[in-house]
Amino acid sequence: ALVPDEAKVVIVGLGGTGISVARFLQKLGIVFAIADSRAKPALLDEFLQYMPDVPVFTGGFDDAAFQVATHLVVSPGVSLRERSIVKALANGTKVIGDIDLFASVVNVPVIAISGSNGKSTVTTMLGEMLKYAGIKAGVGGNLGTPALDLIADENQMYVLELSSFQLERTSVLNAAAATVLNVSADHLDRHADMAEYISEKHKVFNGNGVMVINCDDAVVSNMQDASRQTLGFSIKTQADFHLAFSEGVEYLMHQDTVLMPLSALPLEGRHNGANALAALALATAVGLDVQTACKALQKFKGLAHRMQRVAQIRGVSWVNDSKATNVGACIAALQGYKRKVILIAGGDAKGADMNELAPVIKDKTKAVVLMGKDAALIEQAVNGCVPVVVVKNMLQAVQAAAKLAESGDSVLLSPACASLDQYKNYQERGEKFTSAVMALLS
Ligand code: ADP
Repeated sequence: ALVPDEAKVVIVGLGGTGISVARFLQKLGIVFAIADSRAKPALLDEFLQYMPDVPVFTGGFDDAAFQVATHLVVSPGVSLRERSIVKALANGTKVIGDIDLFASVVNVPVIAISGSNGKSTVTTMLGEMLKYAGIKAGVGGNLGTPALDLIADENQMYVLELSSFQLERTSVLNAAAATVLNVSADHLDRHADMAEYISEKHKVFNGNGVMVINCDDAVVSNMQDASRQTLGFSIKTQADFHLAFSEGVEYLMHQDTVLMPLSALPLEGRHNGANALAALALATAVGLDVQTACKALQKFKGLAHRMQRVAQIRGVSWVNDSKATNVGACIAALQGYKRKVILIAGGDAKGADMNELAPVIKDKTKAVVLMGKDAALIEQAVNGCVPVVVVKNMLQAVQAAAKLAESGDSVLLSPACASLDQYKNYQERGEKFTSAVMALLS
């Protein structure tokens, strides 16, 4: 077993994942304690009511507790570079993640989805496809329910969204089908560099399952392994799953077979065409009928805060893409537009290079409204190529955009940055946007 009965485990991080690990270990009768660096983690009281006998160390990592442990199960939110974790590793303590525990007990096919952007969208698409096909599946991981809490006897399959942090501490996963949707700079404040971030993502392909490869992404294409079964997808060239025109209509294709018109996908943004193709490839890799999968796609309305059209006011379309917390997502959003838009962006850049935005801002925007901690970095990148307005908060941003917009325009909130400098999370940022837009009506 990955964790033997006599193990002494310390769960590092008392969050949703940590608590799912606690429930899992308790069922197995394995002894464990929990450590969290925060003085009072938000879930502490709730946890102690639920498991009053478990020792919980808060307010820092206690070397003594780590020393006694045979295994540390480290939550994705905690860096493996923490001094006490490095020390424990040096002392021979095993460091694992919740996904390893999951993989060690699950015997049905797992679909694993990683990438810088589109994970939640593709994970949810697959969940809908499986539901439509009448297959009972557990869907979650980095999104929604933690992986260990999904485990149930009746599940015939699992679909897991996996972040680079979850993959970093995983070594035994062997997914039946896996993908890295794309790779663009993200989380460089926590990974040593881009090479490390890429190698963590690569781990989603551990094992011998079907590899689903984005042929439009050079970094992902490089991950291909000639000895493995592979399905490619592309919105630019020919691949197993691709786009093609016939008599002026653009279709999703499986090799030479027409599947459905791209316009039948009820989602904004061309990148969602790529997401749909990736989901179809993963679905066929685990034996799902492709036509059934397409029917589910046609009903998929998308997720909130991802290219979500929130209002149409006096001819102006307002789109909430608050989940665009990195440069790659913002670039993809802008590239999907034929007509120039007014972009609202800014927040915490997390160490990424904002200069990458410059060409697409020049090409696809008529003005940019900036806010948040790193507004100046984007303003420098724009370097006067389009008009820039710097504001303090979302209300001002929406009002400034409303002044700039004319009938027929779109205003796109796609910040290219994290929200944490000004908001609790991207959801709160998106909600502030939506309510400021609604206030334009009064
Ligand atoms: P993740 O779970 O990887 O964060 P989401 O599906 O939540 O992905 O989408 C996050 C952001 O990335 C949103 O702004 C969305 O519009 C954008 N996005 C979605 N799919 C893609 C893609 N294939 N390429 C680039 N950006 C994308």
